[in-house]
Amino acid sequence: MELLRTVEEVRRWRAEVRSAGRRLGFVPTMGALHAGHRSLIDTARAANEAVAVSIFVNPTQFGPQEDFAHYPRPLEADLALCREAGVDAVFHPEPETMYPLGFCTWVEVRGPLAESFEGAVRPGHFRGVATVVLKLFEIVQPDRAYFGQKDAQQACLVRRMIADLNLPVELHVCPTVREADGLALSSRNVYLTPEQRRMAPILFQALQRAEAAILQGERRAQTVIQIMEETMATVPEARLDYAAVVDPNSFLPVKTISDDVLLLLAARFGNTRLIDNLPISFPRNA
Ligand code: AMP
Repeated sequence: MELLRTVEEVRRWRAEVRSAGRRLGFVPTMGALHAGHRSLIDTARAANEAVAVSIFVNPTQFGPQEDFAHYPRPLEADLALCREAGVDAVFHPEPETMYPLGFCTWVEVRGPLAESFEGAVRPGHFRGVATVVLKLFEIVQPDRAYFGQKDAQQACLVRRMIADLNLPVELHVCPTVREADGLALSSRNVYLTPEQRRMAPILFQALQRAEAAILQGERRAQTVIQIMEETMATVPEARLDYAAVVDPNSFLPVKTISDDVLLLLAARFGNTRLIDNLPISFPRNA
C-alpha cells in the first residue's frame, strides 16, 4: 500500500493506475476509521481494480466552536485497517497541501439542500465539504466515489455538485453500518461518556418507531415527527436539534407521505452531536 502525501505523488500514482487500465474507486474520509468506513472500502474493493482512501481532517468544514483540534487522528490504526482491507493507496495530505497560503476559491452549494438541517445548524459546513470533495476529486480523479448514507445530506449534496459541475465521477451511497444496539457508527461516538453511550441508541429507536407508524399507514409527516420527538424526549440527556421528514433528493420537508421519504434526526448528548437518518421506501402495495 502506498502512503501518498503530496498532490504530485497522487498524480504519478494515478497515471500508473490509468495506464494499466485499472478503474479507480475512491473513499474520502477524515480518518478514525471504523466498520462504516470499512464497508465503503469493501464495496469499492469489490467493484474496482484499484482503491484509494483519503484521510484528511478538513479544517474548512468545522465551525469555530467545533471539534477540529480534538478530532481523533489515530493514523497508524487507520493505515493498518486500510492495509488489511486491500487499499492500494492512502492520500494523507497536510492542511497546507490542501489549503496553501492565499487559497480563496470555494464551492458554494445554495438552496435548501445546503442551507437546511446540517447546513442551518453548521453554517459554512457544506461549503467546506463541497470544496474539499471537489479538490479531492480533481486530485485523485476517481472513476467511482463511495459515500455513506449515514451522512445523507452530504451524499445528496455531493450528488448535486457532480451533476451541476459535470464531474466525471460515479457516486455510490452505501448503507449505514450500526452497532448491535442500533447506534450508527461514527468517529465521534468516542466522545460519549458511558452513560451517554447507553442512551445514544434512542436515535435509531425513534427512527424505527416512525418507520413502523408509516408502515402501519400513517401519512401525516407531522404525526411521524411527533413520534420521533416523543421518543427522543424519553431521554432527557438528549437535546434534539431537529426531527424531520424530507424528500430524499431535495431535502424539502414533506407534509403528506405519498412517496419515498427520508427521516432525519440530530441530537446533542452533552457536547457531542449525533446525526442519524432512515430512508423509507413508500409502501406502494400497502
Ligand atoms: P467521515 O470520516 O466521518 O467524514 O466519513 C467518511 C465517509 O464514511 C462518509 O461518506 C460517511 O458518510 C461514511 N460513514 C461514516 N459513518 C458511517 C457508517 N456508520 N456507515 C456507513 N458509512 C459511514
